[in-house]
Amino acid sequence: MATLADDTKPIDKDAILAKYAEERDKRLRADGNEQYLELKGQLAHYAEDPYTERVDREPKTDHVTFAFIGGGFSGLATGARLKERGITDVRIIEKGGDFGGTWYWNRYPGAQCDTAAMVYMPLLEETGHMPTEKYVHAPEILEHCQRIGRQYDLNENALFHTKIESLKWEDEHSRWRIATDRGDDFTADFVGLGTGPLHVPKLPGIPGIQEFKGYSFHTSRWDYDYTGGDEHGGPMQNLSDKRVAIIGTGATSVQAVPHLAQAAKELYVIQRTPSSVDIRNNEPIDPKWFAEIATEGWQRRWLENFTANQGIGHAEEDLVDDGWTDLTRRFRSRIKDLPPDQMTVENMHAAWEDADLQKMTEIRARTDKVVEDGDAAADLKAWYRQLCKRPCFHDEYLQSFNIPGTHLVDTDGQGVGRITEKGFVVAGREYEVDCIIYASGFEVGTSLERRMGFDPEGRNGLTLSEAWDDGMRTKHGIHTHGFPNLFFVQATQGANLISNYPHNLVEGALAIAIMVDHAVKTGAKEVEVTKEAQDAWVDLLLTGPGMIIGSAECTPGYYNNEGEPLEEAKYAVGYPAGAQAYFVYIDNWLKSGDFEGVEFR
Ligand code: NDP
Repeated sequence: MATLADDTKPIDKDAILAKYAEERDKRLRADGNEQYLELKGQLAHYAEDPYTERVDREPKTDHVTFAFIGGGFSGLATGARLKERGITDVRIIEKGGDFGGTWYWNRYPGAQCDTAAMVYMPLLEETGHMPTEKYVHAPEILEHCQRIGRQYDLNENALFHTKIESLKWEDEHSRWRIATDRGDDFTADFVGLGTGPLHVPKLPGIPGIQEFKGYSFHTSRWDYDYTGGDEHGGPMQNLSDKRVAIIGTGATSVQAVPHLAQAAKELYVIQRTPSSVDIRNNEPIDPKWFAEIATEGWQRRWLENFTANQGIGHAEEDLVDDGWTDLTRRFRSRIKDLPPDQMTVENMHAAWEDADLQKMTEIRARTDKVVEDGDAAADLKAWYRQLCKRPCFHDEYLQSFNIPGTHLVDTDGQGVGRITEKGFVVAGREYEVDCIIYASGFEVGTSLERRMGFDPEGRNGLTLSEAWDDGMRTKHGIHTHGFPNLFFVQATQGANLISNYPHNLVEGALAIAIMVDHAVKTGAKEVEVTKEAQDAWVDLLLTGPGMIIGSAECTPGYYNNEGEPLEEAKYAVGYPAGAQAYFVYIDNWLKSGDFEGVEFR
């Protein structure tokens, strides 16, 4: 039996890896990412905004210094950093009815951030906000977005409930022209793009999905008019006489299920692949403690510490100390004793695999400890490496299956067979329900153009989709050659820090504000990365070790394009030396003041 050398209990590594492969193979399907339905035509109502009424307004036909597309963390952080530098003429364009991005849309019961608020919430120090809990709930994050908007005076010029229809570079004027679905037709010297990775809801392509005569909605458009209750955790009293099905057991469902289990007469949790659900251990933040630690520069120290604890180097202390840092801590402890000549990529991958096997074995054991029904406990075990799917952390999800009236409907990896007028069918059995809630996630593997709803047109009419035909090409994940004065705020080809996405965004926002400020002060009309610098950056990225996330060995999901990684996915990587090293690098690149590889003219 192959075992992990340093474990007290032996783990049959070969048997587990064989089980991982068997479970993955069971889930592979010929239609891959095509299995999902786009919310258009007869399904368009699933994407409508239930939260804010659309207000009529006059179209804008003016000019702004900086237009930012997307009113989530990226737009807010970039807007704030620009304003701090005296660039006040900033307009944010947002398809939702207010700021917040993902936190505007995701108001399902129990919605909460899995990354510690001290590092997740941007601009805490600037706004003076103290998070109320280690892992805050969604309404607090949404409120914080609005706080940033107010503090930096970003509301007045913002355009809500507005979708971009076209974004075109006008070479003769060195500016961008922006047209929207509200008749706006205005120009901007600079444009930021922060449309986020997970914002277009999708439905599973289950036969009969349109036949259901009961009520249904997607989790990112929660209908509290139907369920009763509210996003603050008010009980969903209208469900007390309802049979409810929730399709999907990803990070959203894991948080919503405990609330539905309390509220519904009967709850059917339909599972295709179980999530790994580790301990949450949430706790309130003590204002006295916060006052002591929140000295000048505290959030940067916490951000740097959390990121350091996600890396392979030495980390003195672990301020956040949670499930995210635990896995890397285990990995580090396995490689620390390797002699320098044994520090190979292969050995590092092996150490990572062993740390992961140990961790996942513990997580699987937790289901046996928590879930009383032995069959349900077995079905709730996740058989894949922890980062193959989004890791989940919760202290009431598994416990929900001990509540009478809550039923796990495991589909053995096959998904729902059919939706009927009265309910759903799994393994030939029809379950009658009043309501079906789709916790089926968001589009990822579809084209960027489809997800954004427009295709930026750069110099000489070149579109972004043409420029990235073979895969993404940028420098720092921020600039693309042929698209002057256009800046991307996102993680890929930069730090690519997955465990704390906003860290990528706030650093990107700062970099952009520094460059725009430099352009304005020096009178440069155009800021553009050279082709050589972009090629050199992409070549550097490809020297890295690649990623576990997105591997074909993983169980299917949006991380690996449903088991068929796209050829261009090899470009969806970060700085080879890791996120911590990237942040040091970009800081030095900015401080040097010569912006190597980017031309100002
Ligand atoms: P996911 O894409 O992660 O989950 C979709 C779920 O629907 C999966 O369980 C999937 O099963 C299931 N599904 C799809 N098709 C079918 C079918 N035909 N029959 C049955 N089940 C089906 O979406 P989520 O909204 O849960 O999460 C999206 C992302 O948003 C997360 O990964 C995370 O990055 C983020 N998020 C973060 C949170 C946080 O910080 N706390 C909270 C919520 C979300 P299968 O796995 O087999 O494909």
